[in-house]
Amino acid sequence: LLRAVGVRKSYGHTEVLGGIDLEVHKGQVVCLLGPSGAGKSTFLRCINHLETIDAGQIWVDGEPIGFRQRGGKLYELRERDVARQRRDIGMVFQRFNLFAHRTALENVVEGPIRVLGLKPDEARKQGLALLDRVGLAHRANAYPAQLSGGQQQRVAIARSLAMKPKLMLFDEPTSALDPELVGEVLEVMSTLAGEGMTMVVVTHEMSFAAEAADEVVFLADGAVVETGPPAEVLSAPKHERTRQFLARIL
Ligand code: ATP
Ligand code: MG
Repeated sequence: LLRAVGVRKSYGHTEVLGGIDLEVHKGQVVCLLGPSGAGKSTFLRCINHLETIDAGQIWVDGEPIGFRQRGGKLYELRERDVARQRRDIGMVFQRFNLFAHRTALENVVEGPIRVLGLKPDEARKQGLALLDRVGLAHRANAYPAQLSGGQQQRVAIARSLAMKPKLMLFDEPTSALDPELVGEVLEVMSTLAGEGMTMVVVTHEMSFAAEAADEVVFLADGAVVETGPPAEVLSAPKHERTRQFLARIL
């Protein structure tokens, strides 16, 4: 479902991604690990074209991100076509970017109504069902400031799901949370994984990676150092860099 080949990205003279290859099949959960500055966030941002890559190619569900393929040639997409591709890719960030002046439910239904053209009634029904899925049906009318960080992050997940994405990207979704709120968000993510959602998750939560990931990818200095099933990469890393990293965070 997601294929990245030779993805490179530089800021000025600084190369941040030095040729990343990654393949994620439908229904798979891939966890990206790596030290600060490794390029994890940059790579996620490239996947949904918040960043333009300098070389390589990224396909989501057969479509080259940012391009259209015709007769074997690639043509750069216009902004509105990029926006259409982006709709299929949900993203949840470290900071819950909810609209502060809208209730939980209003946050969830905004995209479906405005972008997908759903009727408000229908969007509301779907929105309530999604809030129920993340355990927040009873807080539908609360404003973000009235919700805990963990609840806000669950609303953010429901809001992404409302767009019916093919792929979900998570960038350290629990790292801004108080420790006691981490579990409830990881639980929602695990459920989602169990339901067959294709996910790429940047996280330092090793228990989540160990339990939910089909594949763990360790990135350092903009390159994939090591990849494999969590039982291998987390318990018996082959590379010294991976070992050092795991020793520090476990
Ligand atoms: P962290 O674990 O701290 O979130 P990360 O692996 O997500 O780290 P990135 O945020 O992708 O790392 O950053 C990779 C490198 O790219 C860093 O050295 C960072 O300073 C640099 N970088 C990121 N965004 C920009 C930008 N817009 N302009 C210049 N440099 C940037
Ligand atoms: Mg980051």
